[in-house]
Amino acid sequence: MIAGKTIDEWVKQIPLLASIIQCQEVMWTQKPKEEALLSLPLGKQELEAAGQRWQRFASYLMKAFPETQKDQGRIESPLRPVKKMHERLHKSVGHPLPGQLFLKCDSHLPIAGSVKARGGIYEVLQLAEKLALDNGWLTITDDYQLFDQETIRKRLRSYTIVVGSTGNLGLSIGIIGSRLGFRVIVHMSKDAKPWKKELLRKQGAIVIEHPSDYSQAVAEGRKQAESDPTCYFVDDENSTALFLGYAAAAFHLQEQLAKWQVKVDEEHPLFVYLPCGVGGAPGGIAFGLKQLFGKHVHCFFVEPTHAPAMLLGMVTGLHDQIAVQDVGIDLQTEADGLAVGRASRFVGKWMEGLLSGIYTVKDEELFVRLWQLYDEEGIALEPSAAAGLSGIIRLYQSLAGQQYIAEQKLTQKINQATHLVWATGGSLVPTDEMNRYLQKGFTLISRSTR
Ligand SMILES: *Cc1c(COP(=O)(O)O)cnc(C)c1O
Repeated sequence: MIAGKTIDEWVKQIPLLASIIQCQEVMWTQKPKEEALLSLPLGKQELEAAGQRWQRFASYLMKAFPETQKDQGRIESPLRPVKKMHERLHKSVGHPLPGQLFLKCDSHLPIAGSVKARGGIYEVLQLAEKLALDNGWLTITDDYQLFDQETIRKRLRSYTIVVGSTGNLGLSIGIIGSRLGFRVIVHMSKDAKPWKKELLRKQGAIVIEHPSDYSQAVAEGRKQAESDPTCYFVDDENSTALFLGYAAAAFHLQEQLAKWQVKVDEEHPLFVYLPCGVGGAPGGIAFGLKQLFGKHVHCFFVEPTHAPAMLLGMVTGLHDQIAVQDVGIDLQTEADGLAVGRASRFVGKWMEGLLSGIYTVKDEELFVRLWQLYDEEGIALEPSAAAGLSGIIRLYQSLAGQQYIAEQKLTQKINQATHLVWATGGSLVPTDEMNRYLQKGFTLISRSTR
């Protein structure tokens, strides 16, 4: 029984569930409600405050992480047109895919090499700032390079940050936390990649491994932090700080789109495809984009067919009250950043009105697309990050996508559309591992065309 109904009763009520439960690729769309943005507990003010906090830390980041100097201490990634990949996708389906295709390369974000460098680092900076201001170690107008001096680092050493993570969040928190002086403990699930654990330990973080799934690892971390006031828990399933750190990406994206002379307005829709785990990263980014572009941006989330936590929560309306395991889905996917059985406690609800749709992809598709992208553009992504590459195909080829375009009255504007694939990770993946991913994609393609 799930919320008082059997699975059969649920399926009768929501036919799409049958395909979701069988781990088939699906596309679900809905009509976004723009007024939903106004009813959220966070708004433009909080978004701007997040942008300002990032700015206060720019001088620190430039000093502690010189790789951020080229962007004046911003943790930013390139926005790239990917024409050849667009052509390749077009050829692979044999149908027109109107508009232009861009890749947002968070796979190459400085410091942590994944989208988690936005949320994870932001939350740790916020904590460091709060401790420093509350204790009078510095004032808000000081140069935050002070955070890189031994006096403050030593004081932060008496605080512990605890986080539960499938990998990338742990990495970003471990790297920034250790550099600021914090003790960092990362609880990891068994599906976390060995190289991520190794890298974290090298950064000075303590890694605790759990035989159970990710939610269990998070629960363990939360428990440990509750009993100790010098202990701070980064709650991936329930953190508005993470959410705002991701959301601030919208400001820079707006500038980058302008640099490429990409218009986003009534006549020029922007479609964005965001890989989704618990939902914090795609949710935060979608929230930021909606604040800036309103109804002209159409946000789609992507999940593996074997981990459709957000989709399941959304179509049933149960959000975090349902897990993929409840309907017998096994959570087996190589997209470790998306291997999540239960959505965030708040993101699903917040996205109810903002989201345009969610689609799911098989692991094979991830590998094929990541190989094609590498082959055409020389950009290497981890499997999770490749999920958005199928978005443009799904939008145009699925019935739900076509209906969405018609209902939103976008049919006449589709040639002026921009499709943006949010590539969420990859640059820290060791070469051997990356070669294995690429080889897998290549093999799958060769097999299917033989
Ligand atoms: C974490 C992660 C995501 C999804 O972020 P959530 O906040 O869990 O939804 C997507 N891609 C990669 C590579 C990630 O590490």
